[in-house]
Amino acid sequence: MSNDLCLEQFATLESYSEEEHFCRQLRQCKSCGQLYFYEFYETIGPDGNDPQYSTYVPIESQEDIEALKKTDHWGLLEFFPRLLTPKNPRSAGRDSIRYAPRTSR
Ligand SMILES: [Zn+2]
Repeated sequence: MSNDLCLEQFATLESYSEEEHFCRQLRQCKSCGQLYFYEFYETIGPDGNDPQYSTYVPIESQEDIEALKKTDHWGLLEFFPRLLTPKNPRSAGRDSIRYAPRTSR
């Protein structure tokens, strides 16, 4: 979890939701073995420039997984810490990973 480069290599262990604009998976870092609850969420913009969000929440236990599966996109944002990778086609260069630590609220 100390290295953003970790997010380059993932194995998908399980898929909980597979929709066109909403996807949730259990992923595992190939380098350190850390489990993450992954969510892809795309909002529909009026001009076709749909902002996309990828969120990774590190998982410690099976209870974490069950709790996360019960949330919706906004409920997921209540979890700390988490990693966010916002993607907006219009703002190239802002495509960076942000870390939301538990102390940010
Ligand atoms: Zn890792």
